[in-house]
Amino acid sequence: MLISKTAVVTGAASGIGKALTADFISAGYKVYGVDINGEALSELTKASAPGAFVGVIADVTNEEDLRGVAQRVVKEAGAITIWVNNAGISGIGDFSRRPLTEWMRVLNINLVGLVYGSKIALEAMEEKGDGVIINMASVAGHVAAPFMTAYSASKHGVVGFTRALQAELRLKHSPVRVIMVSPGFVNTPIIAKGEISGFPEWLSSMLSTPEKVAKQVMKAIRRDEAEVYPTLNGKMMIKAFRHFPKVTMKSSKLLLTKSLKDALLNRYTVPD
Ligand code: NAD
Repeated sequence: MLISKTAVVTGAASGIGKALTADFISAGYKVYGVDINGEALSELTKASAPGAFVGVIADVTNEEDLRGVAQRVVKEAGAITIWVNNAGISGIGDFSRRPLTEWMRVLNINLVGLVYGSKIALEAMEEKGDGVIINMASVAGHVAAPFMTAYSASKHGVVGFTRALQAELRLKHSPVRVIMVSPGFVNTPIIAKGEISGFPEWLSSMLSTPEKVAKQVMKAIRRDEAEVYPTLNGKMMIKAFRHFPKVTMKSSKLLLTKSLKDALLNRYTVPD
């Protein structure tokens, strides 16, 4: 039996990916959740209605892993309706002091993994004549993010790649749409509030939630939007940086309190 709607969500085990998975399931999709965190995927499978969620342990930096996911979905469900390239990690530290291996790991997961996912999904969707790809960028892909050079480079890469791909698909009248999502600060484990990333506690009321981001993404799918800026804090940061870059950089310097600076200079958030 062919299932009418399927979604592949990378990084489905936590944060924004988990919230999106819940919304897709509520909207009647069968979700294939891809993540390296097998334990969290099992929890999600247990918590979901039978057959609604399939957890797949896979690493987005492994092209073959992702190709296997696409082949499985097409075989089991007939087609991939939506593919969300969401898996990502942060990376905070002084560029001159940290090893390049850490830097490259951020780039590989956030940008190269997303490119693999986009290519594999596009091939499968063009063959079937329909589909939507959603690429998770960030405000850090639009503004300068000091002490986050790898993250910023990866997300600027996501923005450039996604806009170029959208233009290419329009020019060749592809049946596939691509949506770019650029959240600001969202309260998920990636932020590690008040801990390694040093997000100041007194600013925590500024944080958005993964559920709000997911709602905006679902709306963008329905409305056929090309770009989504789902958080107020993100929209404000992009506007401020565009119109008043010097003032914005000065105020971000003010935000770097001494303890935060120490944390940024000496520690890095790239997981093993
Ligand atoms: P999160 O840490 O809660 O979730 C990320 C998920 O990705 C985790 O489940 C993790 O296991 C998975 N993952 C990491 N590396 C992987 C790999 N190699 N292969 C497969 N899965 C992998 O973080 P989040 O905040 O939900 O982030 C989701 C996306 O949103 C990321 O791309 C992030 O850059 C972006 N984003 C987040 C924020 C924010 O403030 N939280 C802001 C802007 C953009």
